[in-house]
Amino acid sequence: MIDQRKVSVVIPCYNESEGIPKLYDALCQVFAQVTDVAFEVVCVDDGSRDDTLDKLVALAAKDHRFHIVELSRNFGKEAAMTAGIDESTGDAVIPFDADLQDPPELIPEMIRAWLGGAEVVLACRSNRAADSFMKRTTANAFYQFHNQVSSIKIPKNVGDFRLMDRIVVDALKQLPEHHRFMKGLFAWVGFKTVTIDYVRQVRSAGESKFSGWKLWNFAVEGFTSFSTAPLKFWSYVGAFGALATFIYAAIIVARTLIFGVDVPGYASLLVAILFFGSLQLISVGVLGEYIGRIYMETKNRPIYLVRKRHHQSAK
Ligand code: UDP
Ligand code: MG
Repeated sequence: MIDQRKVSVVIPCYNESEGIPKLYDALCQVFAQVTDVAFEVVCVDDGSRDDTLDKLVALAAKDHRFHIVELSRNFGKEAAMTAGIDESTGDAVIPFDADLQDPPELIPEMIRAWLGGAEVVLACRSNRAADSFMKRTTANAFYQFHNQVSSIKIPKNVGDFRLMDRIVVDALKQLPEHHRFMKGLFAWVGFKTVTIDYVRQVRSAGESKFSGWKLWNFAVEGFTSFSTAPLKFWSYVGAFGALATFIYAAIIVARTLIFGVDVPGYASLLVAILFFGSLQLISVGVLGEYIGRIYMETKNRPIYLVRKRHHQSAK
């Protein structure tokens, strides 16, 4: 028993009060099935406004496997997950959603693959029927575009639900950035990967915390964290514009020499001014997006702040 391996399940929770009893039952059921490893559950309360924290603390009081990390405010899912991963002590870590959208029944299969030598076990959503049409198509478009442009390929239809060996977790901890787009960071570190297919469920209770605007910002975040293509893009637009202008200038000069001075030209002038004016604004905006990120990174603020840890032995 002395060298029994331990698996940490990391769960970011934000206003998940309703779903917690179900979550606990589902996890216990799974843990009972896997007897050759020990389990630890790290629940991160991401500044919930309901009684999520109280319910989590009650769980920790009755079950020694539960560790609760209480953040000082809502830091967002990526930061909460980072906190949980940092606090976890297992030989493998599984990030998990509190709403049971990812089937816990997959955990034994993941563990088998891990014990069989895999360093990362990905859970791939073979069917996203549980998501709305909009979310499916926009998510698809994002992956398509991101993987075309960026050198780091994010596997399609893979969420944060996965198993990572301790060496992968340690590698992840070496990435110092404060803007944490976890899906991208997970892909960046690499390692020996095995993929398992599953069908994503609808939420067990409560509602999604990611609305349209939040998802858009999330996509921008992901994109700018892993690619500088938008910066380079404007050099090409500029070069193309300069070439087109040069050709147009040659045509005007030739025309003037052959046909004499031609006064009209107001429309083309105004169109050119407006067009290049807006191009410049867009490109300045893109620069701003990146400079904003540099600014935030240089502040070097912590990713999250812990108010308190709740665990049986900590009392
Ligand atoms: N979450 C969090 N902090 C937030 C938003 C979400 O910890 O600011 C947690 C949430 O409690 C859940 C997980 O992140 O466990 C996924 O959130 P959600 O189900 O809303 O996302 P979706 O499944 O719709 O992508
Ligand atoms: Mg969800």
